[in-house]
Amino acid sequence: LAPEQLLAIDKFLVDDEYRHIVLDRDKCKSCHGRPCIYACPAGLYNLKDGEVTFDCAGCLECGTCRVVCPQSLQWEYPRGGFGIVYRYG
Ligand code: SF4
Repeated sequence: LAPEQLLAIDKFLVDDEYRHIVLDRDKCKSCHGRPCIYACPAGLYNLKDGEVTFDCAGCLECGTCRVVCPQSLQWEYPRGGFGIVYRYG
């Protein structure tokens, strides 16, 4: 299966009351490289009107953005009972 098809197999239990990844918008504006846009395997970071947009609903909990972001992220795992449910095959 293609990577997109494999991602579609997974299930996401979205926590509407708690965002496990939070961007600091002010710090984000001063970041020129914007590595999150290129590094997130789920493509959750995008540019819109020059600003980074983010939707944590499809997060794979891989931690890549936590590593590549120079300053603007608060990152935790989702609360118990929420987040991705990986399904293989
Ligand atoms: Fe994307 Fe991984 Fe960060 Fe989730 S943890 S937003 S999948 S880079």
